[in-house]
Amino acid sequence: MQFRDLLKQYEVLKPQIDAAMVSVATSAHFISGPEIEELEKKLAEYVGVRHCITCANGTDAISIALRSWKIGKGDAVFVPDFTFFSSGECPADEGATPIYVDVDQHTYNLDPIKLEKAIKTVIADGKYKAKAVIAVDLFGLPADYPAIKAVCEKYDLLLMEDAAQGFGGKINGKKACSFGDISITSFFPAKPLGCYGDGGAIFTDNDEWEDLIRSICVHGKDTSNRNDPNAKYNNIRLGRNSRLDTLQAAILLPKFKAFKDYELEEINRVAGWYTEGLKGIGLVLPEIKDGFYSSWAQYTIQLPETADRTEIQSKLRAAGIPSMIYYAKPMHLQEAFAGTDSEIADCPVTERLCATVLSLPLDPYKSREEIDFVVTELKKALLRS
Ligand SMILES: *Cc1c(COP(=O)(O)O)cnc(C)c1O
Repeated sequence: MQFRDLLKQYEVLKPQIDAAMVSVATSAHFISGPEIEELEKKLAEYVGVRHCITCANGTDAISIALRSWKIGKGDAVFVPDFTFFSSGECPADEGATPIYVDVDQHTYNLDPIKLEKAIKTVIADGKYKAKAVIAVDLFGLPADYPAIKAVCEKYDLLLMEDAAQGFGGKINGKKACSFGDISITSFFPAKPLGCYGDGGAIFTDNDEWEDLIRSICVHGKDTSNRNDPNAKYNNIRLGRNSRLDTLQAAILLPKFKAFKDYELEEINRVAGWYTEGLKGIGLVLPEIKDGFYSSWAQYTIQLPETADRTEIQSKLRAAGIPSMIYYAKPMHLQEAFAGTDSEIADCPVTERLCATVLSLPLDPYKSREEIDFVVTELKKALLRS
């Protein structure tokens, strides 16, 4: 069994994806081809924001967004302690100080009460200027934006939505990538909407930021006249080279159609089979609160603290079932932050999660039989661990 079966998806979408790839090869329009604009328009429309700017990957998307806000040295950026490294790496790389905040045990997402506490502490200390919050839609579930936004407004902080894992999620019908002042996603192959390499996108309603982001993505080009082909050789600021390849955009177009037509619904069905099969046996299962909708980047359970996770994983592996630990280490304990103020954090929930979580195989193409098999083998492994 594959952890996330990308080949199965390719087999289903092969005619459209092959045609898309050949079409880019024969057009030879490898950079900034027409598929880029088509994709950006479709994604912005789906999400319900004015602008979508594609870029090279999700990590760049975070860094570029932070740069458009001029966040850097002396600024504090609040980040969940339980996330993928980029969420904290990017603000640190811009010279800011990530302040790690604990998460909710049941949703795995930023705890709004602890967020406010952390903001108050930073303001009282006065060493850093409280500037922004990066909320993460972990495992596909949108963070608690109604509560987080209220906190951001109260303390006048910018809000970024890191929806690298969250594309397709919703809160009361409003879509992920629309909750931040700027929101980002990733098209890394294993994300809910993935391409065939690296890719990312930035979303915002703000025209001024859109302009700045488009400029930063292409070496600080002049964006004042978008029809002028020479404007990209007029460099009005320092930027970087961060573009989505035309080939990846062409691959994403049919994949996006499948995603919204049926994959999102299917993966929710598959996740539902896990929830049904695994309840009542002493595991903590992912909780989707009323009004929330997940795109299920991962199905992550919490084992009893007494269970031997390594042993359970090896039993599953012996039965042909891959499993992963997302994430094994709290951000504030990553060696990269040793000796910095980012290592100062009070995150007991994250520390417990890191010791007990286990992510199970999941994708929209898994059958009921496959999920039942994982459930059966996991129950057996739990009894013997
Ligand atoms: C994957 C991921 C990123 C980075 O995306 P890349 O495209 O791999 O650079 C950022 N944040 C989170 C939460 C992620 O899961």
